[in-house]
Amino acid sequence: MNSDDTMAEVQRKPWLKPSITPLRSGFLNKSGAARHMIWRDNIDGVPVKKLLEEFKSPLFVISEQTLRKNSDSIREAFRRRYPDVLFGWSYKTNYLGAVCNVLHQEGDLAEVVSVFEYEKARRLGVPGDCILFNGPNKSREILERAVNEGAHIHIDHLDELYLLEDIARSMERVVDVAIRLNFDTGYTEPWSRFGFSVESGQALDAAWRIASSDNLNLVGLHAHIGTFVMEPLAYKAEVKIMCEFMEEVEKKTGCIIKYIDVGGGFASMNSLQGIYLPPEQVIPSIDQYAEAICDTLLQFTHDRESRDCSRPTLILETGRAVVDDAEVLISSVVANKHLPDGRRAVILDAGVNDLFTAFWYNHDVSPSRQLWGRPEETVLYGPLCMNIDVMRHSVMLPPLNVGDTLIFSPVGAYNNTQWLQFIEYRPNIVLIDEEGEVSLIRAAEDLDVVTQQERLPQHLEKPYPKGVPRNFLESTK
Ligand SMILES: *Cc1c(COP(=O)(O)O)cnc(C)c1O
Repeated sequence: MNSDDTMAEVQRKPWLKPSITPLRSGFLNKSGAARHMIWRDNIDGVPVKKLLEEFKSPLFVISEQTLRKNSDSIREAFRRRYPDVLFGWSYKTNYLGAVCNVLHQEGDLAEVVSVFEYEKARRLGVPGDCILFNGPNKSREILERAVNEGAHIHIDHLDELYLLEDIARSMERVVDVAIRLNFDTGYTEPWSRFGFSVESGQALDAAWRIASSDNLNLVGLHAHIGTFVMEPLAYKAEVKIMCEFMEEVEKKTGCIIKYIDVGGGFASMNSLQGIYLPPEQVIPSIDQYAEAICDTLLQFTHDRESRDCSRPTLILETGRAVVDDAEVLISSVVANKHLPDGRRAVILDAGVNDLFTAFWYNHDVSPSRQLWGRPEETVLYGPLCMNIDVMRHSVMLPPLNVGDTLIFSPVGAYNNTQWLQFIEYRPNIVLIDEEGEVSLIRAAEDLDVVTQQERLPQHLEKPYPKGVPRNFLESTK
């Protein structure tokens, strides 16, 4: 994103020491394309410099415009192909209140997998009956609340089924429930630890168990086959298996399935480590996913009307494909180093404590000004005193100055939920709204925030109760 301002400032190229770089034709360069040719000095029109002056480095920046645009185009891709579609926002992908409420305003239900996420959705104002409650760890207390508030409970295992039945019986209620299924699509590694296995007959047993209960009623089927699934055919297989199962349970147990929830997992425009082709070449479009899902669903449900039974509602729990490219991380150069093997290294003020997904992705790195000089293979380190703190193992960059800034993207999925308070304080997060206004949506941590849950027993209130060991260097002479 070359800005006119930057072009105007640069009158002519500075003199550079001539150098020779061997051309290795025929090899894919594992460092990727030379990123220094592209720079980015603003986010949604707000200058990076201004953002950092006000909110300090490092800084996460979310674009409300991109978030709404992504949500809208995914919604459209499905609505065009299937008449009855709902979306559940996967809280664990990014549960910042501002992000959740943008997506709720766009029409998303809340998809939660824990007490914390359930409570967070309720506190944000999401009604109980707009919550999809997944996850393997639901206590009696939270299930009672979920039943009372009309949440859609997706049962993960038999013990949960028995507990829920007990709760429903003691409340003298009939509770509509869904079950989570697992199966082999042939394209993804089966996540058999979640839900009931279709192939083994477990899932049908669970459906029978529900059918035989006076207090439970099976109305939904749920599955979530993986994350960053790059093969749309996996979804075709998923929907086929779920529809065949739906037919079978309806026929055998007499229940009527009102919704099929196919979960999330669509890949975002990010580079998975180990895949050297650029994401634009390997990541399917949303239309490809939507077509795989909707065509299969239409095909398997077209005769339902003749059986006086409407088509099931399709629910999607798309997480990363909605939010990933709506957020960037701006980080500044603390120091330059040369490693003994000759590689250049840069120390940044943000590390894997902030950017947890750096363990799996080669995030795109753009400087915020045009860089001059010969690009060299560079390692980008974070600030942690830990060998694992690597933001990029290898990226081609010209020399950087202390204080220069780099923009990592896309970082919206699984960072602001999985990040760690480890060694450093976590930084500010701002949202740029559609008018270009910048709001702080999560303040940087400080000592009070980080230590507020700690308690010091009385005998540990002072570090040196017997007096301070002053001048310890002199005493060791
Ligand atoms: C994590 C999760 C999602 C979202 O997955 P993405 O890969 O981010 O799309 C959806 N549903 C369930 C049950 C999940 O656990």
